Amino acid sequence: MKVGLIQLDGKRPNLALLKLATWHKNKGDDITILDLSGYKFDVTYASKIFAGGSGYNIKAKLPDGIEEVVPDYNAFNLDYSIVHTTRGCFRSCDFCIVKEKEGELTEIDNWKEKITKSKVILLDNNFLASKYAREKLQYFIDNKIKVCFDQGLDIRLVNEEYAQLLSKVKYYDSKFNYRVLYFAFDDVNIEPIIRKKIPILINGGIKSHHLMFYMLIGFNSSINDDLKRVNILWDEFGCLPFVMIYNNKKGKLLHLFSKWVNKRVHKKYTWDEWLDYTNYKEERHYEYLQ
Ligand code: SF4
Repeated sequence: MKVGLIQLDGKRPNLALLKLATWHKNKGDDITILDLSGYKFDVTYASKIFAGGSGYNIKAKLPDGIEEVVPDYNAFNLDYSIVHTTRGCFRSCDFCIVKEKEGELTEIDNWKEKITKSKVILLDNNFLASKYAREKLQYFIDNKIKVCFDQGLDIRLVNEEYAQLLSKVKYYDSKFNYRVLYFAFDDVNIEPIIRKKIPILINGGIKSHHLMFYMLIGFNSSINDDLKRVNILWDEFGCLPFVMIYNNKKGKLLHLFSKWVNKRVHKKYTWDEWLDYTNYKEERHYEYLQ
């Protein structure tokens, strides 16, 4: 068979396509890869035989026998592996589709086989929730594997032992250019946990500026909640906030806030100074205006 593998979007090669490449090659099929992800289309029309992924269907899965194969990283010239050691999550955060899509946390048995490179992008939704998290961290340390905890780690599950192990892991961003561990501070109500757990990470040997916290905005927080989260993370602890706007929602204030944080304007200028600079004239502090 002649098989076309076409990537239409996404910042990195799609894991399902990498697995399909292996599966079809093992059957002796000819594969052709077409990466269109660098093109910016407003609308894409395509004819297809098989379609998958959360954007298409939240319940879509790879056909039997493909999910477990070792992805063909070389077909996409990757110098890193992309791996899940678990799927699912034990939590049910209101804004998150993981529980509905993947269910409760389950272990993936053959994850070590899928690490064939010295760098790995981990796609676990809640890595620290695994009862084998310490053994996995030790495996990365012993094998000197550079790891990107791409989906973020659950700050609520951090303890002294995990902090010490994490400090010994070669953790990196998704391009393996700089040292970073991703966490989330999505809900201002976990402030006491944030205040308790960041010092545990720092005392475990991790530099505060290696800690980046995703911050969901535009879901159920006010601008004051969001300012408070930035204040705690950056001004009090020297950790980096990174704003994610819920569902890419529209709204000038949301996008100004995102720019103020993610472009690191907040390091030099206050929120009020930024609003003056951008000539923002409407209500400044209380609600996001649509
Ligand atoms: S902890 Fe993370 S993965 Fe789990 S439900 Fe919440 S947001 Fe989703």
